[in-house]
Amino acid sequence: MGFFDRLLGRPGAQADKRVGWFAKAQNDLDRYGDEYADLPDEELAETAAKLFTLEDRRESLTRYAALVREAADRALGERPYFTQLKGLIGLLDGMVVQMLTGEGKTLVGAMAAAGYALQGRTVHVVSVNDYLAARDVEWMRPLFDLLGVTAASVGESDSEESRRKSYTQEVVYASVQEVGFDTLRDRFLTQGQKPRIAQRDVVIVDEADSVLIDEARVPLVLAGTASVEQVDAEITRLVAGLEAGKHYELSHDRTAVSLTEAGIDAVEEALGVDLYGDDAETLAAVNLALYALAVVHRDVDYLVVDGSIKLISDSRGRVADLQRWPDGLQAAVEAKEGLTTSSSGEILDQMTVEELIQTYSTVCGMTGTALAVGDDLKEFYDLEISAVEPNEDVIRIDEPDRLYTYQESKERAIVDQVLEEHREGRPILIGTRSVAESESLAHRLKQRGVEVRVLNAKDDSREADIIARAGESGAVTVSTQMAGRGTDIRLADDEARDAGGLLVIGAGRYDSSRLDDQLRGRSGRQGDPGTSVFFTSLEDELLTRVPEIQRFVEDGDETGFIQSRKAAQLVEHAQRMAEGENTGVHRDTRRFNDLMSKQRKQVLSRREAVLTEDYGIDELLEKVRDRDDVKSAGDGAVREALRDILLFQIDDRWVAHLAFLNDLREGIHLRTLAKERPHEAFNKESMAQFSQFWSDVMASTEDVLEEVEFTSDGVDLPAVGMKRPSSTWTYVAAESTFGSDIESVVKRIRR
Ligand code: ADP
Ligand code: MG
Repeated sequence: MGFFDRLLGRPGAQADKRVGWFAKAQNDLDRYGDEYADLPDEELAETAAKLFTLEDRRESLTRYAALVREAADRALGERPYFTQLKGLIGLLDGMVVQMLTGEGKTLVGAMAAAGYALQGRTVHVVSVNDYLAARDVEWMRPLFDLLGVTAASVGESDSEESRRKSYTQEVVYASVQEVGFDTLRDRFLTQGQKPRIAQRDVVIVDEADSVLIDEARVPLVLAGTASVEQVDAEITRLVAGLEAGKHYELSHDRTAVSLTEAGIDAVEEALGVDLYGDDAETLAAVNLALYALAVVHRDVDYLVVDGSIKLISDSRGRVADLQRWPDGLQAAVEAKEGLTTSSSGEILDQMTVEELIQTYSTVCGMTGTALAVGDDLKEFYDLEISAVEPNEDVIRIDEPDRLYTYQESKERAIVDQVLEEHREGRPILIGTRSVAESESLAHRLKQRGVEVRVLNAKDDSREADIIARAGESGAVTVSTQMAGRGTDIRLADDEARDAGGLLVIGAGRYDSSRLDDQLRGRSGRQGDPGTSVFFTSLEDELLTRVPEIQRFVEDGDETGFIQSRKAAQLVEHAQRMAEGENTGVHRDTRRFNDLMSKQRKQVLSRREAVLTEDYGIDELLEKVRDRDDVKSAGDGAVREALRDILLFQIDDRWVAHLAFLNDLREGIHLRTLAKERPHEAFNKESMAQFSQFWSDVMASTEDVLEEVEFTSDGVDLPAVGMKRPSSTWTYVAAESTFGSDIESVVKRIRR
C-alpha cells in the first residue's frame, strides 16, 4: 500500500489500519498456541468462553485465533493457514474479506461465526443457496461442538417447527432468501405469536459481492390470495408482427425497447386507439409485450420447461427457481410463448436483500472478488475491505484477450485452441455466457470428435459429478457461469498437472470483471499450475454497446483475428461502462426503495405499538363504550378484539399501499413525460398517499366497528370479511421491467 493510496483513501488503506496489527502478532499467536495445544477438549471450550472478557481486545483476538487454530486442527483435521486467521480477524472486525478461490473461506466463516457466538452474539451465516447452507453447517459442526457453540441450518423445505428451533441456535446457516422470507412472515404476527427470528444481530455473508451488490436490488416477496393477470391476445399477436428497426428500436445496451413513429402509427391503426392520449393501460400492455418480444430471450434469459417459464439468473447462469418477473411481464412472456398464464398473488409485503442486510447490527463477509466493488460496498453498506494474500502464490498465467471480428470466427478459434491443448491431455473448462452459446460450442466440439461434458441451466442434475471430473486429464467441460462461483475443481492426476494444469477459456467477457475473475479463479488454486484466456468478438453484446470499437472489423486477418492494442483497451472500456451502468441502476432503484422502506418501517413501528402498547385502542374504545354488546362483552375481550381489528386494518392498508407504490413505480416514466423528474414525481405522489395512511386505517376500522358485534369471545372477524390469506407463498421478483435507467427511458419516449 503506497503513500498515495493511503492519502487517497483507496480500498485497503482502511483495512491496513484496522487489521494490519495482526501480521505482527505471529509470535504471540504461536506462544498462545503452545499453551492451548496441551489443553484437553473440555478445557478448550471453557477457555474459549472466557477469552473475550479480557480487557485488551487485541489480546482476545490473538488468543482466539490461536485457540481456534488448535480446535479446527483437532475437529476437522485441517490446520488453518495464517492467511485464514488474517481473514478471521477481518471478519471479527466487521469487514469484507477478499480471499481467492480455494483459500478455505468456509472455514474462515465458521471460525468467525463461533468467535462472535462466544461474545454472546447471535450469528447468521448467509450463503447463496440452501444446498451450501446445509453442506457448510454439517461440514463445520465438529468445530462448533468442540467450542461449545450451537449451530443449525434452515432450508426451504423445513417445517415451521424445525425452522423455529433452528433460529434459536447461536449460529444459523441459511440462504439469504430464506432469512428474508422468514423476516417477512414475522411481520404479520398477531396477539400471542412469537417471531421466528428474535433478532438480526451479526450476519456473515459468503460470496459477499454477489449477495450485497449483484442481488442487492432483488425484492423478496411474500404473497397471498391468488389472482390471474389477463393478457390481451390481440396485443401479443400484433406486437409479434412488428419489425425491428422499422417499428421499434432497442437501446444501445439492449435493456430497453421503444416504438418508432412508424411503430406507433401501426399499433394505433390496428387497435384503433390513441396510445399517447389517455389510454395508459393499452400503452403499458403494448410496452410489456414489446419488451417480452425484443429484450427477453429464450435460452438466454429463460427456459421453457414443462409448459412453464424458468428464469435464468444473470450472475449465476443457473435456473433461479424462486424467481419470477413482475406480474405484467411474466404474463406477457407466457403469452409470447403461448403458455397458460400462471397465477400471481397479491403482494402482502416485500423487501430487498439490501434492506434485509441493513437490519443487522454487524455486517461482514467474504469473497474472491471484493476489491472490484470496493466503492459500491462503501457507498451502499459503509463496508471496508481487507484483502488477504493467498496462502500459496498464484502461478496461473492470464493471457491477454483474443479479439475476433464475428461470433463465428471466435467460436472457430476456440474450437481450434481446445483441439490443440486437448491433444496434450490438458483439462479444459470453457465458460460461456448463455445456454445457447454453451450448446453451440459443445456441438462444434463434438463434430470435431471431442468428448465434452455440458453444464448449464437446462441440466444441472450431474453438476457435482461433472465438477468432480473437470480436473481430470483430457476432460473438456463447457459450462455457463454455474461453474464460476464456489465450485472446487481439483487437478485429478499428475498428467493433468504436467500438461499445464487447468486451462480456462472464457467465451466472451461478462458484464462484470468480477465474473471473469471468478471464472479464471477455477484454475490455479493453492499454487496449482494453470492458464486462463478470454476470446471476444465484436458481435458480443458487451462490445456492440461501444460504437468506436466496431470499426476494427476491417482489421481482422483471414481467421478474423484482430491484433490491436487500441481495440483491447476498448474491450476493457466496454466492461467498465457496463459496470458503471450497473452501479447507476443500483443507485436508481435504491432511491425508489429507500422511500418504500422508510414507510414500511413507520408502519411496522406503529403496528408494534398497537400490539404491545395498546396504541390507538383507548381511542377506539371511547367510540363504542356505550354500546350494549360492548358493555356485556367485558373490557378485556373488547380490547383484544379491537386490537385484532386494528392490526388487520393496518396490514390490509399496507397491502393496498404497496400495490399503489408498485404501480406508481412501473408507470412513473409514462406519467412524467410532461415535466417532472421521475424520482421527484414518485416521492411526491407516494408521500401524499402515505400521509393518509393512519387516518385511512382509523376510518376503515370505524366502518368495521359498526358492523360487528362484541361478545365475551371477541368478534367473528371472517364474518365481516376480515379474513387473512389461508396460504401464503414467497418468491423473488426479477428486476423491474423499467428498472433499467429510468431517466433514459423517459428521454427516449419523450423524443
Ligand atoms: P473457498 O470457499 O475459499 O473457495 P473452500 O472453503 O470451499 O474454499 O475450501 C476449499 C478446499 O480447501 C476444501 O476442500 C477445504 O477442505 C480445503 N481447506 C480449507 N482450509 C484448509 C486448511 N487449512 N488445510 C487444508 N485444507 C484446507
Ligand atoms: Mg466458498
